[in-house]
Amino acid sequence: MSEHKLFQFLDLPRQTPRTVPVAIRVLGYGEIAGDFGEANAGAQSGRCLDCGNPYCEHACPVHNYIPNWLKLVEQGRIVEAATLMYETNPLPEICGRVCPQDRLCEGACTLEQTAFGSVTIGSVERWVTDEALRQGWRPDLSAVKETGKRVAIIGAGPAGLACADRLRHAGIAADVYDRQHEIGGLLTFGIPPFKLDKAVVQTRRAFLEQLGVRFLLGHEVGRDIEFGQLLDDYDAVFVGTGAYTYVDGKLPGRGLHGVHDALPFLIANTERLLRDEPPAPAFDLRGKHVVVLGGGDTGMDCNRTAIRLGAASVTCVYRRDEASMPGSAREVGYSREEGVEFLFHRQPLEILGDEHGRARAVRVVRTELVTDGHGRPRPHNVEGSESELRADVVIQAFGFLPSPPDWLVSHGVKLAHSGRVITGADGALPQQTSHPRIFAGGDGVRGADLVVRAVHDGREAAASIAQMLATQVEAVAAVA
Ligand code: FAD
Ligand code: SF4
Repeated sequence: MSEHKLFQFLDLPRQTPRTVPVAIRVLGYGEIAGDFGEANAGAQSGRCLDCGNPYCEHACPVHNYIPNWLKLVEQGRIVEAATLMYETNPLPEICGRVCPQDRLCEGACTLEQTAFGSVTIGSVERWVTDEALRQGWRPDLSAVKETGKRVAIIGAGPAGLACADRLRHAGIAADVYDRQHEIGGLLTFGIPPFKLDKAVVQTRRAFLEQLGVRFLLGHEVGRDIEFGQLLDDYDAVFVGTGAYTYVDGKLPGRGLHGVHDALPFLIANTERLLRDEPPAPAFDLRGKHVVVLGGGDTGMDCNRTAIRLGAASVTCVYRRDEASMPGSAREVGYSREEGVEFLFHRQPLEILGDEHGRARAVRVVRTELVTDGHGRPRPHNVEGSESELRADVVIQAFGFLPSPPDWLVSHGVKLAHSGRVITGADGALPQQTSHPRIFAGGDGVRGADLVVRAVHDGREAAASIAQMLATQVEAVAAVA
């Protein structure tokens, strides 16, 4: 080892936790990353250069104090490290698992710009929080004074959970309504268990309940309970209802048997796993040739789920090149390891069916990327380069758009043309909408995005709500 602590990276290469061997991992849905262990987590943390102006913190959407907690981990001070992680991130063990670190903190690590490879920030975050929770660590809320204020949160996805957590720290009661029977939003029903074990979300649920968060599940706002009622009953409302409108590629043949949209496909699989049931016939892919259309994280999840459902082949079609893929490079790598073939520079044109109305092939055309001086290079179809790909099953993963609830608009909340809820405009507080008592965050505000950005919004919304309610208390006191 080098004597100078700062230069440990010269001798110690970047190491991620070992993953389960491919032949075993594709037989089930367990998380594929192994446990880091204290020795490895400490040693890998010691690779940090402790840059004076850490870019990793800047690139992390919740601006975690990364070098500070890496130092604590290196010194074996796990509980202190977990406490510091939790200060900026209400869901650290979840972000440590699902953040595309190569595009965020680790992509910005100074060591990543060299041949040495970034510090394994995400894996350390995950291990430390898991370990601290295992050791019974919980935040100390004994000094928190209850304010008597109450907030309704609509949506138990990461935005709503982060908001609830931070409200409790401010002594504000948080009631979380969700139409699903379980918390987590896409953490539970979208992201497959091989990326995020559902037991991790359950542990977080117990943690939040201990903080005093109340979950009112199986309640769809607008159907089972009126939004106006919530506005009457609570001091403020946070809306974190996500983005669930499919981007429709309008491909001819999309109504054929065997053509699925990504989310129903993934949800059906997660739900039947939770019920411990075999796949429904439509999703039993044994012996089938599967084509996944789309190169984002959702596409990668569909690829890897199709492999586990026994597909004979899985081909992922993307219209640009590999470097332009929007998702995490790590997930592309895992898909490839597990047997997925990638076909880049192909634009799907139509889905072809057989005489029984079942999908049999996807017609694609080759593309080339053309730069017109504005934004990303655009794919242009190359005339005469059409071909057919065999496909018994086609999964469309073209992304999602916001799905703003009608009741928001009818209560005067302004939306952008895209359907995104506008927050923080014209002197409003961060995450405050055009209605002063309605706050919003997550995919409903940003469009389909990332867990960690939803967490950021929930956290910021809680701070704004606390600020607004404190101002109200002062105003009432002043009048009195
Ligand atoms: P959601 O997680 O969508 O939660 C919204 C909640 O609101 C849901 O529980 C819903 O039931 C509830 N709701 C909606 N309307 C109502 C109503 N009227 N009444 C009551 N409840 C309501 N991000 C990553 O960072 N890493 C990944 O690896 C990753 N993988 C993904 C894989 C898939 C398949 C998908 C679809 C997304 C993935 N994402 C990933 C994106 C990430 O999951 C989202 O950005 C994030 O979950 C958004 O959080 P949210 O709280 O805004 O919304
Ligand atoms: Fe990296 Fe995500 Fe953790 Fe931030 S929250 S440090 S981006 S893994």
